Amino acid sequence: MVNVKIENSKPIKTFKNCKMTKFYEVRRRDGAARIGILSLPGEKKQTPLLFRVDALSTGEEAIKVVHAEDSNFNDLFQEDLWDVPRGAVLLPEVHPLFTNVKDAPLFVDFFVLSIASNMHNSPRDFVRRIIDARNMIPPDVALWVPAIATAENAALLFYMGVDIIDDTNAVINGYQAIYQVEEGEIRLNELEELPCNCSVCASLSINELRGKDFKERALLLARHNTALLDKETKKAKERIRAGNLREYVEMKVRSSTFLTAVLRILDLYESEYFELRTPIARRGCMKANTMESLKRIEVKRFANRVLERYEPPARKILLILPCSARKPYSTSPSHAKFIDAIGDYRGHIHELILTSPLGVVPRELEVVYPAAFYDIPVTGYWDAEEREWVSSCLHAYLERNLRNYDTVVAHLSGAYKEICSGVAEDLGIKVVFTCEEGVDATSKESLERLRNCVSELCGDKKRLSGFEMKASVIKAMADFQFCIGAGNELVARKEGERIKITGRYPSFKLSLGGGVLARIVSAYGTLALTVNGARRIENFLSSYNVEIGDFVPEGSILAPGVVNASEQIRVNDEVVFVGEKAFGVGRAKMSGWEMVESRRGVAVQVREVRPL
Ligand SMILES: [Zn+2]
Repeated sequence: MVNVKIENSKPIKTFKNCKMTKFYEVRRRDGAARIGILSLPGEKKQTPLLFRVDALSTGEEAIKVVHAEDSNFNDLFQEDLWDVPRGAVLLPEVHPLFTNVKDAPLFVDFFVLSIASNMHNSPRDFVRRIIDARNMIPPDVALWVPAIATAENAALLFYMGVDIIDDTNAVINGYQAIYQVEEGEIRLNELEELPCNCSVCASLSINELRGKDFKERALLLARHNTALLDKETKKAKERIRAGNLREYVEMKVRSSTFLTAVLRILDLYESEYFELRTPIARRGCMKANTMESLKRIEVKRFANRVLERYEPPARKILLILPCSARKPYSTSPSHAKFIDAIGDYRGHIHELILTSPLGVVPRELEVVYPAAFYDIPVTGYWDAEEREWVSSCLHAYLERNLRNYDTVVAHLSGAYKEICSGVAEDLGIKVVFTCEEGVDATSKESLERLRNCVSELCGDKKRLSGFEMKASVIKAMADFQFCIGAGNELVARKEGERIKITGRYPSFKLSLGGGVLARIVSAYGTLALTVNGARRIENFLSSYNVEIGDFVPEGSILAPGVVNASEQIRVNDEVVFVGEKAFGVGRAKMSGWEMVESRRGVAVQVREVRPL
């Protein structure tokens, strides 16, 4: 029972210092969605979890839900009184008991959002109620939204941060002669056959099902509806594990205008909620197949960081190139041709890739996430919104960095060229276009024009050293990941230093006097520091610090061991941890705010530790 009315979605740290859960632990995250473990006596259940209402009412599920009015409500304030997971009901309105509760340690493992069934009144209400609830409760307790889950909306519920659903709706639909399918529901009398292979549907025909008496038919339909919901829960869990629940949600919401509206409202008004929870890097490919893909946190974050955390190298010629299907771009056949045309002048030219949905990708950042990890359907047609977004990215980049360059060359054709011309006109700048109207950028003719243009502009400039070229990549990646200045501090040769970069692109390794400082982890598109590397740029890592307690960590640092953590930290960020007894580097497994507010779970995976 906890209840507050909040008007906006800013996280309210109601329970900041409360010690909460004993039986629930979050193990894995994909944005706001999580996989967790709920420990019941004798067994552990994974969330996202589907509760069976009949099992709950017969007491088969060993959990306890406490309402504010229950006589044992005050027991929730005592840590050791319970040996099963306990939940408290989260009321939608301000409840008089709330004032007593908010500052006291209330020991619960999950919260139940009460009167959730009326959330279907409006998409905004649906968003508000769930996001408010999630913001109001600690990150390491589960959220159960009862009685509204269907096979159609379950993935979206998990995407928003719901951990537990139940089959109430599936059972009620059974009594209403409603047959649920993955993409919605059909009245039993509208079906010609049963489009499913579950144990119910495989065992009888539609006419046999229709012929059953009311009670039996309702139970059979309920069993089918529940089986479908169970399957959907498992599918969503698999997506969370793979880190691509968002793609699945974009696909699932298509079947319903209500759910599509919910996703669009989330993208429009809840970006802060998702920004706090979205990982900095993933292993998998980000598929941008829908109009909503343009609004993803990963896309907005990348575009913002190109403006805020990137300084182009000191080169006088900017060359704008089109993107390629293969990533990193420079491994594609088209880019091999562009690079060949630039030849030995490469080190004097700054390459910028124009692309949807990321906007602009400086060549030095082509291996970072998501620049090397996205895919879009290519048709040659760009819709108005895509054009507007990519134009705005190029416009912002040029406005900020134009003073670096003497000349802007664009080796672009088709829509890319139109976008670039429009931006150049807006800014009143002259751009040299090297592709004739209607001629492809990879044609012999276009490449020859590029070659001539570059050689004319560069004249007798000498080829840049291999070290300088490689260092520009590591420098840009360090700036992008930590803050501007970090990169220069990391790669700049100080007096008497023997610093070198080895390895095949993009798996570069930076070392000093034989000891490694940093390496590019191409599977994640990140730069991993060693303790020596972190020491070297310590002054630039203040946004990625985790303060730990009085111990020397091994393997991983758990949330209770974290004293404080920078707010900027997101899942998969490179972090440095500092305590009285140890200094080290590792990868964040939860956001910085979550490390501070959680009592359970792995906060940092340690890569290297040095006892102090
Ligand atoms: Zn079935």
